Amino acid sequence: MARAYNFSAGPAMLPEEVLLQAQEELPDWRGSGMSVMEMSHRSKEFVSIAEQAEADLRELLAVPDDYRVLFLQGGASSQFAMVPLNLLRGKSGADYINTGSWSKKAIAEARKFCEVNIAGSSEASGFTSVPAQDELNLNPDAAYVHCTPNETIGGVEFPYVPETGGVPLVADMSSTILSRPIDVSRYGVIYAGAQKNIGPAGLTVVIVREDLIGGAAADTPAMFDYSVHAEAGSMYNTPPTYAWYLAGLVFQWLKRNGGLEAMAQINRRKAEALYDAIDNSGFYANPVDKPCRSWMNVPFTLADPDLDATFLAEAKEAGLLTLKGHRSVGGMRASIYNAMPEAGVRALIEFMAGFEQRYG
Ligand SMILES: *Cc1c(COP(=O)(O)O)cnc(C)c1O
Repeated sequence: MARAYNFSAGPAMLPEEVLLQAQEELPDWRGSGMSVMEMSHRSKEFVSIAEQAEADLRELLAVPDDYRVLFLQGGASSQFAMVPLNLLRGKSGADYINTGSWSKKAIAEARKFCEVNIAGSSEASGFTSVPAQDELNLNPDAAYVHCTPNETIGGVEFPYVPETGGVPLVADMSSTILSRPIDVSRYGVIYAGAQKNIGPAGLTVVIVREDLIGGAAADTPAMFDYSVHAEAGSMYNTPPTYAWYLAGLVFQWLKRNGGLEAMAQINRRKAEALYDAIDNSGFYANPVDKPCRSWMNVPFTLADPDLDATFLAEAKEAGLLTLKGHRSVGGMRASIYNAMPEAGVRALIEFMAGFEQRYG
């Protein structure tokens, strides 16, 4: 088996160990006589898989008891609507911090439901930083404050957790969840599409404080109401069972490998090595303010954009895949989530140095 280093922003690499375990368990899950894919979501086998996954995620993130963990569908993009539908609770507006492409999508969706106050924006700098706490213009009467702790496309990350003075903080953590320990109690809602750092696409994890459940308006569609999913243990309808199972295998893998403290150290080392290689070259550049550089998504440009296609072709030859930058940014982007081994980052750095020698 020749596994390449896949730098895709999502769906992204999964740990090889997890894939091999899934392969072994694929036709007959632990003597059940069937694949997890074929199991009723209400069977005791699947319920045990689901409960173990939730318990492991709670342990990894130290989720307090007064938070519910929901395993939903619809991606982070559905949460752009579910957040206002559930959290407005009679209020007319919410605060949004605009730090890039994903913030903007969340804002556009929220505008269908409420007045959006842009409480801070780094648009003027081309989204190469995030607004500082003292630059935020927060409305104390807002229903909630929404932020995007890691902007997957721009490679920009908050170096702090916004202080909101008691207004619930909502975070789209799609591309940063599980990259390091976090203090869940700082947030009202955390949501994440699974396909970056949790598991396969199709699953969306929502961690929501209990007092924020149950406030959706009566005409909210059931599938968009947190209380419906919370009451049904995320089994109001058929959940994405196989993705939930695979996420559970990833959580077990994280626990075997030292949990999020260990991930944070590895992720910091990977990111620092790659940014150092970029900064110390005369050929590659990353525009993001140093304190706001993402550990997970590292965009970079070549001194001569005419070499982009050659770079990508030669990288592919070297087993380094999916490095093309997002069309809105250009250049390259290396996504280095938990499942990207340090050896993959080292291989990329070596390739980049060699490419610079040949063409720079
Ligand atoms: C990928 C991504 C999304 C979109 O997720 P879907 O699951 O495709 O809806 C939203 N926000 C962020 C920060 C992302 O990285």
